[in-house]
Amino acid sequence: MLVFTGSDRLEHFLWHAYEDENHEYHDKFQQYFREVDFTIGEIVSRINEEDQLVILSDHGMELIKANVNINCYLAAEGFLVLMDKPKSSERYKNIREGTKVFTLDPARIYLNRGGKYPKGSVKSGEAGYIVDSLISAFEDLAYNGEKVIKKVYRKEEIYHGEQLEHAPDLVLLSNPGFNLKGNISAENVFEERDIITGKHTYEDAFLFVRHNKDLVPENPTVEDVRQIIE
Ligand SMILES: [Zn+2]
Repeated sequence: MLVFTGSDRLEHFLWHAYEDENHEYHDKFQQYFREVDFTIGEIVSRINEEDQLVILSDHGMELIKANVNINCYLAAEGFLVLMDKPKSSERYKNIREGTKVFTLDPARIYLNRGGKYPKGSVKSGEAGYIVDSLISAFEDLAYNGEKVIKKVYRKEEIYHGEQLEHAPDLVLLSNPGFNLKGNISAENVFEERDIITGKHTYEDAFLFVRHNKDLVPENPTVEDVRQIIE
């Protein structure tokens, strides 16, 4: 198995150069992908015709319009209570009693359940009500009149299996250009993009299978790849 990690790093730091034909690194950006393409050609030329070849990407990329600090929004809406002057080095120790919800990067939302987290207080009886009010709060989140959240997934919609209890209670999917972040010590809900100009997208992931294409379901997931290889 071979992983090209450079495509991800290049796109995070230089997506703006890709979109701007006059940028000094625009051509070099494209040259990188020509070299990846060439390398795939080399691999194909050296394996046998009957060998299976699977190529996949687990996400696409797009330009960041704004960074969105979800913990700041939760604090503003009263779901999260932080120390008066949260220290970035203390991270989640900044959480105070009374916190109902917190976020881990990039937008995994956890109920602060009693018995599970140090200052957790949410009882199982309250969970449904809190989740419903969270979903409506996320639907209201807007930037210059544009809705930030495209879809709120409940954990059972995404995860399954024995470890389900450890999964986040909600996962947020943003509308194009909104880079959701779990920074606990950020000061503002919205921030201009920084050195990172590209963000992952749910769309544009792809799966290529050379043989046994009939094993690929109509809407494949990452998990389906295992069966195709077996
Ligand atoms: Zn990445």
